[in-house]
Amino acid sequence: MASIQLKNVTKSYGKGKQALQVIHGVNADVADREFIVIVGPSGCGKSTLLRMVAGLEEISGGEISIGGRVVNDLEPAERDIAMVFQNYALYPHMSVFNNMAYGLKIKKMPVAEIKTRVDKAAAILELGHLLDRTPRQLSGGQRQRVAMGRAIVREPQVFLFDEPLSNLDAKLRAQTRLEIQKLHRELGITALFVTHDQVEAMTLAERMIVMNAGVMEQFGTPEEVYHRPASTFVASFIGSPP
Ligand code: ADP
Ligand code: MG
Repeated sequence: MASIQLKNVTKSYGKGKQALQVIHGVNADVADREFIVIVGPSGCGKSTLLRMVAGLEEISGGEISIGGRVVNDLEPAERDIAMVFQNYALYPHMSVFNNMAYGLKIKKMPVAEIKTRVDKAAAILELGHLLDRTPRQLSGGQRQRVAMGRAIVREPQVFLFDEPLSNLDAKLRAQTRLEIQKLHRELGITALFVTHDQVEAMTLAERMIVMNAGVMEQFGTPEEVYHRPASTFVASFIGSPP
């Protein structure tokens, strides 16, 4: 089970008089295997929220649970999550296989198990014929798939995506979007997917969190958000008539 609960989660950067609160009391209950999109304009706090779930950023107040376990004080490696970024840093001198296997080798997983996992991920991502190449010999879209493969082989309960498509051109973006949907269906993962793109949010989300200036303005299905916006901000941002 990998449900996610956010209870009154807050974040301030800096201390004392210099403190700047960037997340204001976010509450959300995400079900196991649900695909949630966090959408809002640049600077509204999407990455900060995601990084707190990942454990890359300390939380200032409230509580985050993953699979019913409070994770506030757990290191990223203890949280059973994988994160896919916009700037996927692959190891340039390593083959695709070794890029995907690296995290498992560090954990001293048996070689046969590593091979099974990499082959399975490569099949899902259609990377099987590219395993011997190095990143330089790949297209942008293929590199992005390797970055996803590296996350998949860890078999995490929760996937966190921070604008993973924004460096891709329109065609590749649409294609990769389909691949992410396939991943969600086939692996039954729970996903938090951050984007500033309303169309991407509407197409990918089972439910979406609409953020503005650190505040969760609405949490609902794309239909609800579109037809019953909770605020004038949501109405104008999502583009439905007021
Ligand atoms: P988004 O991902 O929605 O663009 P961010 O979560 O990156 O937004 O940023 C939210 C706010 O927090 C912004 O005002 C940003 O300037 C500020 N911020 C982000 N990271 C830091 C940091 N490390 N120190 C201080 N302020 C930060
Ligand atoms: Mg961001």
